Amino acid sequence: MVDLDHALSEARRAVAEASRVCRKVQKDLERIRSITKDDRSPVTIADFASQAVIAHRLTEALGPIHLVAEEDSASLREPANAGTLAEVVEAVRLVWPDANTDDVLSAIDIGNDDGSGRSFWTLDPIDGTKGFLRGEQYAVSLAWIDHEHVVLGVLGCPNLSADFSRPFDDPDPHGTMYSAYGGTGVWEQRADKPEDAGVRLRLLDSEAGQAVRLCESVEAAHSKHDATAKIMERIAPGGYESVRLDSQCKYAVVARGQADAYIRMPTKKGYREKIWDHAAGSIIATEAGCPVSDIFDKGLDFSHGSTLETNRGIVCAAPRLHGTIIEAIEALGLGAEPVAD
Ligand code: AMP
Ligand code: MG
Repeated sequence: MVDLDHALSEARRAVAEASRVCRKVQKDLERIRSITKDDRSPVTIADFASQAVIAHRLTEALGPIHLVAEEDSASLREPANAGTLAEVVEAVRLVWPDANTDDVLSAIDIGNDDGSGRSFWTLDPIDGTKGFLRGEQYAVSLAWIDHEHVVLGVLGCPNLSADFSRPFDDPDPHGTMYSAYGGTGVWEQRADKPEDAGVRLRLLDSEAGQAVRLCESVEAAHSKHDATAKIMERIAPGGYESVRLDSQCKYAVVARGQADAYIRMPTKKGYREKIWDHAAGSIIATEAGCPVSDIFDKGLDFSHGSTLETNRGIVCAAPRLHGTIIEAIEALGLGAEPVAD
């Protein structure tokens, strides 16, 4: 029997350390871009370093684990990428000072599990890579899946302020971290101080008569913006507000009542959502009292390896709105599979 309290505190520690590493690399964006002459290399470095740190910490604390993670070390092992590998090892050493190159490569490959077992961890070492590269929101997302259900989730949001008055595109100096496991509610802590006692999140539902607040992807390639606009016009004829931000921070923003809904409308025929893009975020929202389903009101099904094979899109919303959004999707005929690829 797994001790969930112990697993949760180790997961928080691991996510907080990875968040520290990501924050440092993000501060260094311009230097890294100039030496590697590659716009994307900062996120590549932070992605690998974050995965190495979390895989290593969890294994050290919990023994051998099954981990389904986004990255593997194959490309990093190519001689042409030696410079990137050196930067990854350097980044990891911020929190794992005696790590050598082999330690880092082996730790990354702990994440190669395919999710076919009954119990496994899933990790997106940096969710919202575009946000990371813009210096905006991104998340470190770790969850534990047992018998097809997410039972524990930790979401590091290194740039997300706990203060609702702070704009999303202004990185917070401390960041926030949300965590939950079945039936215990959601805890909010500072991302840079996991040892501090957190506060239990209370869902602040908007009041009837207030403008409905939507949150959705920045990237039009990840969610169909014109479809979400049609849904909102139908459910909030008096007007609505919309905020676009990257990563699973959207789930946290709904869970804490700063937005009323996160809608993700499919854009691409055949695209299947990845489990690591939704596992931690979805348990944080549901534990805060906000239902999460796909656009057909089907619960997310984590029993098909690394993708949500039988789900399409996402609707996460305050309880009073979830059903209304699902009805609007159906009434507007927006559930059909997109035709363009
Ligand atoms: P977001 O920050 O909400 O825009 O989501 C970022 C995630 O979108 C990435 O982690 C990708 O795994 C995922 N993604 C990539 N392509 C698509 C797509 N066509 N539709 C939906 N999500 C996608
Ligand atoms: Mg992702």
